[in-house]
Amino acid sequence: GLLPGWDRVDEHVAAAYERSRENHDGVVADYIPALAAVDPALFGVSVIEVDGGTHVAGDADVAFSVQSISKAFVYALVCEELGHDAVRERVGVNNTGLAFNSVVAIELNDGHPMNPMVNAGALATTAMVPGSPDEQWDAIHAGLSRFAGRTLVLDEEVYASEVRTNQRNRAIARLLESYGRIQTDPARVVDTYTRQCSLLVTARDLAVMGATLADGGVNPVTGERVVSPAVCRDTLAVLAANGLYERSGEWLFEIGLPGKSGVAGGIVTIAPGKAGIGTFAPRLDAAGNSVRGQRATAYLSRVLGLNVFASA
Ligand code: GLU
Repeated sequence: GLLPGWDRVDEHVAAAYERSRENHDGVVADYIPALAAVDPALFGVSVIEVDGGTHVAGDADVAFSVQSISKAFVYALVCEELGHDAVRERVGVNNTGLAFNSVVAIELNDGHPMNPMVNAGALATTAMVPGSPDEQWDAIHAGLSRFAGRTLVLDEEVYASEVRTNQRNRAIARLLESYGRIQTDPARVVDTYTRQCSLLVTARDLAVMGATLADGGVNPVTGERVVSPAVCRDTLAVLAANGLYERSGEWLFEIGLPGKSGVAGGIVTIAPGKAGIGTFAPRLDAAGNSVRGQRATAYLSRVLGLNVFASA
Protein backbone atom coordinates (compact mmCIF):
# COMPACT_ATOMS: atom_id res chain seq x y z
CA GLY A 1 0.00 0.00 0.00
CA LEU A 2 1.15 3.52 -0.87
CA LEU A 3 -1.61 5.57 0.69
CA PRO A 4 -0.96 7.35 3.95
CA GLY A 5 -2.56 5.08 6.53
CA TRP A 6 -2.65 2.35 3.89
CA ASP A 7 -3.06 -0.34 6.51
CA ARG A 8 -6.43 1.18 7.42
CA VAL A 9 -7.83 1.89 3.93
CA ASP A 10 -10.39 -0.96 4.16
CA GLU A 11 -11.70 0.62 7.34
CA HIS A 12 -11.83 4.10 5.78
CA VAL A 13 -13.66 2.83 2.69
CA ALA A 14 -16.20 1.03 4.92
CA ALA A 15 -16.66 4.20 6.98
CA ALA A 16 -17.11 6.35 3.84
CA TYR A 17 -19.81 3.93 2.73
CA GLU A 18 -21.62 3.79 6.09
CA ARG A 19 -21.59 7.54 6.67
CA SER A 20 -22.80 8.46 3.17
CA ARG A 21 -25.45 5.73 2.99
CA GLU A 22 -27.62 7.70 5.41
CA ASN A 23 -28.01 10.49 2.88
CA HIS A 24 -31.11 10.34 0.67
CA ASP A 25 -30.81 13.73 -1.04
CA GLY A 26 -30.95 14.17 -4.79
CA VAL A 27 -32.93 12.61 -7.62
CA VAL A 28 -32.18 9.90 -10.19
CA ALA A 29 -31.67 11.23 -13.74
CA ASP A 30 -34.74 10.66 -15.87
CA TYR A 31 -34.07 12.62 -19.06
CA ILE A 32 -32.72 9.33 -20.45
CA PRO A 33 -35.77 7.09 -19.72
CA ALA A 34 -33.74 3.90 -19.10
CA LEU A 35 -31.80 5.60 -16.30
CA ALA A 36 -34.99 6.41 -14.37
CA ALA A 37 -35.59 2.69 -13.75
CA VAL A 38 -32.47 2.19 -11.59
CA ASP A 39 -32.73 1.31 -7.87
CA PRO A 40 -31.86 4.60 -6.10
CA ALA A 41 -30.63 2.72 -3.02
CA LEU A 42 -27.63 1.22 -4.82
CA PHE A 43 -24.33 2.49 -3.44
CA GLY A 44 -20.78 1.27 -3.99
CA VAL A 45 -17.34 2.62 -3.10
CA SER A 46 -13.92 1.42 -4.24
CA VAL A 47 -10.33 2.56 -3.85
CA ILE A 48 -7.55 1.02 -5.98
CA GLU A 49 -3.99 2.00 -5.11
CA VAL A 50 -1.34 2.43 -7.80
CA ASP A 51 0.33 -0.75 -6.53
CA GLY A 52 -2.93 -2.64 -7.16
CA GLY A 53 -4.16 -2.66 -3.53
CA THR A 54 -7.94 -3.04 -3.74
CA HIS A 55 -10.61 -1.87 -1.31
CA VAL A 56 -14.39 -2.07 -1.81
CA ALA A 57 -17.61 -1.50 0.11
CA GLY A 58 -21.30 -1.95 -0.75
CA ASP A 59 -22.44 -2.40 -4.35
CA ALA A 60 -18.97 -1.96 -5.86
CA ASP A 61 -19.60 -4.66 -8.47
CA VAL A 62 -23.01 -3.50 -9.69
CA ALA A 63 -22.87 -2.33 -13.33
CA PHE A 64 -24.21 1.03 -14.53
CA SER A 65 -23.60 3.10 -17.67
CA VAL A 66 -20.42 5.17 -17.56
CA GLN A 67 -22.10 8.20 -19.21
CA SER A 68 -20.05 11.39 -19.01
CA ILE A 69 -17.18 9.69 -17.20
CA SER A 70 -16.28 8.26 -20.62
CA LYS A 71 -15.38 11.83 -21.64
CA ALA A 72 -12.30 11.81 -19.43
CA PHE A 73 -10.91 8.60 -20.89
CA VAL A 74 -11.76 9.32 -24.52
CA TYR A 75 -10.04 12.68 -24.05
CA ALA A 76 -6.94 10.90 -22.75
CA LEU A 77 -6.95 8.53 -25.74
CA VAL A 78 -7.26 11.44 -28.19
CA CYS A 79 -4.45 13.33 -26.46
CA GLU A 80 -2.33 10.20 -26.74
CA GLU A 81 -3.02 10.03 -30.50
CA LEU A 82 -2.93 13.71 -31.45
CA GLY A 83 -1.08 15.52 -28.67
CA HIS A 84 -1.61 18.35 -26.22
CA ASP A 85 -1.76 21.27 -28.67
CA ALA A 86 -4.14 19.82 -31.26
CA VAL A 87 -6.74 18.99 -28.64
CA ARG A 88 -6.41 22.28 -26.79
CA GLU A 89 -6.84 24.26 -29.98
CA ARG A 90 -9.91 22.35 -31.19
CA VAL A 91 -11.71 21.57 -27.93
CA GLY A 92 -10.30 23.92 -25.26
CA VAL A 93 -9.77 23.53 -21.51
CA ASN A 94 -11.81 26.28 -19.81
CA ASN A 95 -14.99 25.83 -17.77
CA THR A 96 -18.23 27.14 -19.28
CA GLY A 97 -19.94 27.79 -15.94
CA LEU A 98 -23.05 26.40 -17.62
CA ALA A 99 -24.84 23.05 -17.75
CA PHE A 100 -23.22 20.03 -19.43
CA ASN A 101 -25.60 20.17 -22.39
CA SER A 102 -25.68 23.94 -22.82
CA VAL A 103 -26.18 25.34 -26.30
CA VAL A 104 -25.83 28.88 -25.00
CA ALA A 105 -22.22 28.13 -24.00
CA ILE A 106 -21.38 27.34 -27.62
CA GLU A 107 -23.05 30.49 -28.90
CA LEU A 108 -21.41 32.69 -26.27
CA ASN A 109 -17.99 31.45 -27.36
CA ASP A 110 -18.28 31.84 -31.14
CA GLY A 111 -18.84 28.15 -31.70
CA HIS A 112 -16.00 26.96 -29.50
CA PRO A 113 -16.93 23.87 -27.47
CA MET A 114 -14.82 25.22 -24.55
CA ASN A 115 -13.75 21.97 -22.86
CA PRO A 116 -13.94 18.19 -23.43
CA MET A 117 -16.07 17.48 -20.32
CA VAL A 118 -19.25 19.17 -21.54
CA ASN A 119 -21.29 17.52 -24.27
CA ALA A 120 -20.15 19.92 -27.00
CA GLY A 121 -16.48 19.36 -26.22
CA ALA A 122 -16.95 15.64 -25.79
CA LEU A 123 -18.62 15.38 -29.20
CA ALA A 124 -15.77 17.38 -30.74
CA THR A 125 -13.25 15.11 -28.98
CA THR A 126 -14.93 11.89 -30.12
CA ALA A 127 -14.94 13.32 -33.67
CA MET A 128 -11.13 13.65 -33.45
CA VAL A 129 -10.51 9.93 -32.89
CA PRO A 130 -8.65 8.81 -36.06
CA GLY A 131 -10.34 6.53 -38.59
CA SER A 132 -13.78 5.68 -39.97
CA PRO A 133 -16.79 5.74 -37.59
CA ASP A 134 -16.43 1.98 -37.04
CA GLU A 135 -12.71 2.31 -36.36
CA GLN A 136 -13.39 5.21 -34.00
CA TRP A 137 -15.83 3.12 -32.00
CA ASP A 138 -13.46 0.14 -31.92
CA ALA A 139 -10.62 2.36 -30.68
CA ILE A 140 -12.82 3.93 -27.97
CA HIS A 141 -14.22 0.58 -26.84
CA ALA A 142 -10.77 -1.03 -26.75
CA GLY A 143 -9.18 2.01 -25.07
CA LEU A 144 -11.76 2.32 -22.29
CA SER A 145 -11.50 -1.44 -21.76
CA ARG A 146 -7.71 -1.12 -21.34
CA PHE A 147 -8.25 1.56 -18.71
CA ALA A 148 -10.65 -0.80 -16.89
CA GLY A 149 -8.52 -3.90 -17.39
CA ARG A 150 -11.40 -5.92 -18.84
CA THR A 151 -13.59 -5.84 -21.95
CA LEU A 152 -16.44 -3.45 -21.21
CA VAL A 153 -19.94 -4.32 -22.45
CA LEU A 154 -22.49 -1.95 -23.99
CA ASP A 155 -25.88 -1.60 -22.24
CA GLU A 156 -28.16 -1.98 -25.28
CA GLU A 157 -31.20 -0.72 -23.40
CA VAL A 158 -29.54 2.50 -22.23
CA TYR A 159 -28.10 3.03 -25.71
CA ALA A 160 -31.50 2.54 -27.41
CA SER A 161 -33.18 4.77 -24.84
CA GLU A 162 -30.69 7.58 -25.40
CA VAL A 163 -30.85 7.23 -29.20
CA ARG A 164 -34.60 7.87 -28.95
CA THR A 165 -34.22 10.94 -26.73
CA ASN A 166 -30.90 12.63 -27.64
CA GLN A 167 -32.26 15.31 -29.96
CA ARG A 168 -30.35 17.90 -27.98
CA ASN A 169 -26.98 16.20 -28.51
CA ARG A 170 -27.77 15.89 -32.22
CA ALA A 171 -28.49 19.60 -32.30
CA ILE A 172 -25.22 20.37 -30.51
CA ALA A 173 -23.28 18.27 -33.03
CA ARG A 174 -24.96 20.04 -35.96
CA LEU A 175 -24.20 23.41 -34.42
CA LEU A 176 -20.54 22.45 -33.99
CA GLU A 177 -20.49 21.26 -37.60
CA SER A 178 -21.77 24.68 -38.68
CA TYR A 179 -18.81 26.27 -36.89
CA GLY A 180 -16.32 23.81 -38.45
CA ARG A 181 -15.59 22.18 -35.11
CA ILE A 182 -16.82 18.78 -36.32
CA GLN A 183 -15.66 17.88 -39.81
CA THR A 184 -17.16 14.40 -40.13
CA ASP A 185 -20.80 13.24 -40.22
CA PRO A 186 -22.34 14.70 -37.03
CA ALA A 187 -24.95 11.93 -36.81
CA ARG A 188 -22.21 9.30 -36.66
CA VAL A 189 -20.30 11.32 -34.08
CA VAL A 190 -23.39 11.46 -31.86
CA ASP A 191 -23.90 7.72 -32.33
CA THR A 192 -20.33 6.91 -31.29
CA TYR A 193 -20.59 9.31 -28.34
CA THR A 194 -23.89 7.70 -27.27
CA ARG A 195 -22.26 4.26 -27.42
CA GLN A 196 -19.29 5.36 -25.33
CA CYS A 197 -21.75 6.72 -22.72
CA SER A 198 -23.64 3.39 -22.69
CA LEU A 199 -20.67 1.21 -21.73
CA LEU A 200 -21.26 -0.59 -18.44
CA VAL A 201 -18.81 -0.16 -15.56
CA THR A 202 -18.79 -0.77 -11.82
CA ALA A 203 -17.43 1.38 -8.99
CA ARG A 204 -14.48 -1.02 -8.91
CA ASP A 205 -13.87 -0.49 -12.65
CA LEU A 206 -13.94 3.29 -12.15
CA ALA A 207 -11.36 2.98 -9.39
CA VAL A 208 -9.09 0.94 -11.69
CA MET A 209 -9.58 3.46 -14.51
CA GLY A 210 -8.77 6.30 -12.12
CA ALA A 211 -5.80 4.44 -10.70
CA THR A 212 -4.44 4.11 -14.25
CA LEU A 213 -4.48 7.92 -14.59
CA ALA A 214 -2.98 8.17 -11.08
CA ASP A 215 -0.22 5.76 -12.10
CA GLY A 216 1.15 7.71 -15.07
CA GLY A 217 -0.95 5.71 -17.52
CA VAL A 218 -0.12 2.15 -16.43
CA ASN A 219 -3.10 0.05 -15.33
CA PRO A 220 -2.01 -1.15 -11.86
CA VAL A 221 -4.06 -4.34 -12.11
CA THR A 222 -3.04 -5.54 -15.61
CA GLY A 223 0.36 -3.82 -15.74
CA GLU A 224 -0.47 -2.56 -19.25
CA ARG A 225 0.53 0.96 -20.34
CA VAL A 226 -2.59 2.69 -21.69
CA VAL A 227 -1.42 6.32 -22.10
CA SER A 228 1.72 8.34 -21.36
CA PRO A 229 2.45 10.22 -18.11
CA ALA A 230 2.11 13.56 -19.99
CA VAL A 231 -1.39 12.59 -21.13
CA CYS A 232 -2.36 11.74 -17.53
CA ARG A 233 -1.12 15.15 -16.40
CA ASP A 234 -3.11 16.95 -19.11
CA THR A 235 -6.25 14.92 -18.46
CA LEU A 236 -6.13 15.53 -14.70
CA ALA A 237 -5.72 19.28 -15.24
CA VAL A 238 -8.81 19.30 -17.45
CA LEU A 239 -10.75 17.26 -14.87
CA ALA A 240 -9.75 19.61 -12.06
CA ALA A 241 -11.21 22.54 -14.00
CA ASN A 242 -14.25 20.81 -15.52
CA GLY A 243 -14.94 17.34 -14.13
CA LEU A 244 -18.00 18.14 -12.00
CA TYR A 245 -19.77 20.40 -14.50
CA GLU A 246 -20.59 23.87 -13.20
CA ARG A 247 -19.84 22.68 -9.64
CA SER A 248 -16.20 21.91 -10.48
CA GLY A 249 -14.95 24.80 -8.35
CA GLU A 250 -16.91 23.67 -5.30
CA TRP A 251 -15.70 20.08 -5.74
CA LEU A 252 -12.07 21.21 -6.01
CA PHE A 253 -12.49 23.45 -2.96
CA GLU A 254 -14.02 20.67 -0.84
CA ILE A 255 -12.15 17.62 -2.12
CA GLY A 256 -8.99 18.93 -3.76
CA LEU A 257 -8.70 16.19 -6.39
CA PRO A 258 -9.47 15.86 -10.11
CA GLY A 259 -12.65 13.84 -10.74
CA LYS A 260 -15.39 13.19 -13.27
CA SER A 261 -19.05 12.45 -12.73
CA GLY A 262 -21.72 10.88 -14.93
CA VAL A 263 -25.51 11.13 -14.84
CA ALA A 264 -25.98 7.41 -14.11
CA GLY A 265 -24.44 8.15 -10.68
CA GLY A 266 -20.78 7.26 -11.07
CA ILE A 267 -17.84 9.42 -10.03
CA VAL A 268 -14.16 8.68 -10.69
CA THR A 269 -11.58 10.56 -8.64
CA ILE A 270 -7.81 10.53 -9.02
CA ALA A 271 -5.18 11.02 -6.32
CA PRO A 272 -2.07 11.45 -8.52
CA GLY A 273 0.68 8.96 -7.69
CA LYS A 274 -1.53 7.30 -5.10
CA ALA A 275 -4.91 5.86 -6.05
CA GLY A 276 -8.16 5.92 -7.99
CA ILE A 277 -11.53 6.21 -6.25
CA GLY A 278 -14.75 4.94 -7.85
CA THR A 279 -18.23 5.54 -6.46
CA PHE A 280 -21.73 4.69 -7.66
CA ALA A 281 -24.97 6.07 -6.21
CA PRO A 282 -27.75 7.17 -8.58
CA ARG A 283 -29.25 10.16 -6.74
CA LEU A 284 -27.88 13.38 -8.26
CA ASP A 285 -27.64 17.04 -7.27
CA ALA A 286 -28.97 19.78 -9.54
CA ALA A 287 -25.78 19.80 -11.64
CA GLY A 288 -25.91 16.02 -12.29
CA ASN A 289 -23.35 14.83 -9.71
CA SER A 290 -24.00 11.85 -7.39
CA VAL A 291 -24.74 13.15 -3.88
CA ARG A 292 -23.51 10.11 -1.94
CA GLY A 293 -20.52 9.78 -4.25
CA GLN A 294 -19.44 13.34 -3.49
CA ARG A 295 -19.82 12.77 0.24
CA ALA A 296 -17.97 9.46 0.27
CA THR A 297 -15.14 10.91 -1.83
CA ALA A 298 -14.88 14.01 0.38
CA TYR A 299 -14.58 11.75 3.42
CA LEU A 300 -11.88 9.61 1.81
CA SER A 301 -9.93 12.65 0.63
CA ARG A 302 -9.97 13.99 4.17
CA VAL A 303 -9.10 10.84 6.13
CA LEU A 304 -6.48 9.68 3.62
CA GLY A 305 -4.95 13.16 3.30
CA LEU A 306 -5.34 13.24 -0.48
CA ASN A 307 -6.13 16.94 -1.14
CA VAL A 308 -3.45 18.01 -3.65
CA PHE A 309 -3.48 21.58 -2.33
CA ALA A 310 -2.70 20.62 1.27
CA SER A 311 0.90 21.19 2.39
CA ALA A 312 0.51 18.89 5.38
N1 GLU B 1 -25.04 10.51 -22.38
C1 GLU B 1 -25.36 11.61 -21.55
C2 GLU B 1 -25.69 12.83 -22.39
O1 GLU B 1 -25.02 13.12 -23.32
C3 GLU B 1 -24.20 11.90 -20.64
C4 GLU B 1 -24.48 13.03 -19.72
C5 GLU B 1 -23.67 13.02 -18.46
O2 GLU B 1 -23.34 11.98 -17.89
O3 GLU B 1 -23.41 14.14 -18.02
O4 GLU B 1 -26.66 13.52 -22.16
